[in-house]
Amino acid sequence: MNKKDPREVPLDSLASLDEYGDRKYIYPAEIKGFFKNWRNIIHPLFIAFFLILPWIKVNDQQWVLLNLPERKFNIFGLSFWAHDTPMIFFVIAGLLVGLSFVTAVWGRVWCGWACPQTVFIESVFRRIEILVEGNYLARMKLDKAPMDFKKFLKKSIKWSLFLLISLIITHSFLAYFVGTDRLLDMIQHSPKENWTNFLIICITTAIILFDFGWFREQFCLIMCPYGRFQSVLMDKSSLGVFYDKKRGEPRRTKENKDNPSEQGDCINCYKCVSVCPTGIDIRNGLQMECIACTACIDACDEIMEKVNKPKGLIRYASESTLEGNKSNHLRPRTILYAVILVILLSGLTISLLKKESVSFSIIRAVEEPYKVTDTMEGKKEVINHFKVHIQNQSPSQVSTEYHLKDEDSAYQLIAPMNPAITESGAKNWIHFFVKVDLDKFHSTTDRELQIEFKTKGDSVDIDTLKSITLLGPER
Ligand code: SF4
Ligand code: SF4
Repeated sequence: MNKKDPREVPLDSLASLDEYGDRKYIYPAEIKGFFKNWRNIIHPLFIAFFLILPWIKVNDQQWVLLNLPERKFNIFGLSFWAHDTPMIFFVIAGLLVGLSFVTAVWGRVWCGWACPQTVFIESVFRRIEILVEGNYLARMKLDKAPMDFKKFLKKSIKWSLFLLISLIITHSFLAYFVGTDRLLDMIQHSPKENWTNFLIICITTAIILFDFGWFREQFCLIMCPYGRFQSVLMDKSSLGVFYDKKRGEPRRTKENKDNPSEQGDCINCYKCVSVCPTGIDIRNGLQMECIACTACIDACDEIMEKVNKPKGLIRYASESTLEGNKSNHLRPRTILYAVILVILLSGLTISLLKKESVSFSIIRAVEEPYKVTDTMEGKKEVINHFKVHIQNQSPSQVSTEYHLKDEDSAYQLIAPMNPAITESGAKNWIHFFVKVDLDKFHSTTDRELQIEFKTKGDSVDIDTLKSITLLGPER
């Protein structure tokens, strides 16, 4: 009976679990190569983007801010409020459909290149681990060794650095929700003054430390919903990391090792398995566990170079191209996603163009639309009562001055609050009255007046005209 290769990856269970269902820690081997070089450029850019983004301010406003308590959202300079639900819907639905489109065309490119889980583990946590504990073989040896001073020291340094990085990530993460000004203020004060945020920081740091420091690929395999959805979103033409079975098989074995004519290009070195962060063997076909990190492509290319065979035994491909067909990006699925995406983006653009930073509406006071009063001079006058609703959707406080546009001195606008101040994101109700002599009221046919609103703020300078119609007694 053939003895099983100990490096063989089981097909019926997760590579990161042993036969008793316990966690089998994965120590992926370090790798160099074309894709690794690109990841070394792209990952730091993403990390810098994530850490710097909340500190960017435009017009004294945080460029990206998700202020949940005040239900104010700044997304790349655009301000949304809770009542902007249609726009928030367009943004969220656009992101989801966009990700579906990207997955249908380029497979799990998000997982391998941009997901914070991959980016931080590969380019920060794993690097610290290598720096402190050595390469994957040294780490494996250290973990198996009994605890002594050297092991204790290495583990303490590693986990202290992990804690420091987790705290930096958590504070940056919190800055997206509370704002950088508030964050700096909180840091300078006792936790007693900000218990809720202090607890959020502690819990988030603990989660990041646990996930990026230890749980790692288990999150992708067990918890990430996107990994589960990929099989629905992808089809035979979607790009992914594939092993070219036609070219590679039959792989070299003990039985055929002396007969090159019976061998494909795969020399069965298991290098592709040893570098895989989820511990799978890509030669078993596309699997849910594959996060398309491309490490196995670089590993196999290195081997192919050494054995003088063309690179690309493992490569970016699709099931279709591996079968010898052309890759077709114009498929019903991709067309449908693209059409929905265009509809959502158009909806968002129209909503943004129609969005007013400060809006006004005037309604008549229903309690007493008008009344007739006696003046000191013994005359009678008609007074109409109106209410103005001001909604300030601009990022700063605004001041609104208003007056009658018509120069006719017979009409008089009386406003207890003029100018009216409206805070950013707030709604304001102001009352005003329009007074006219009863004689004048009866002698005129045109009782429509124009009110001019002049609104000023840090980023606002708007003139708005609104019409009102006066009511009064029949002659
Ligand atoms: S199979 Fe290859 S691409 Fe997929 S996760 Fe493993 S190393 Fe990365
Ligand atoms: S690295 Fe390449 S040659 Fe080696 S086992 Fe994997 S596919 Fe085969």
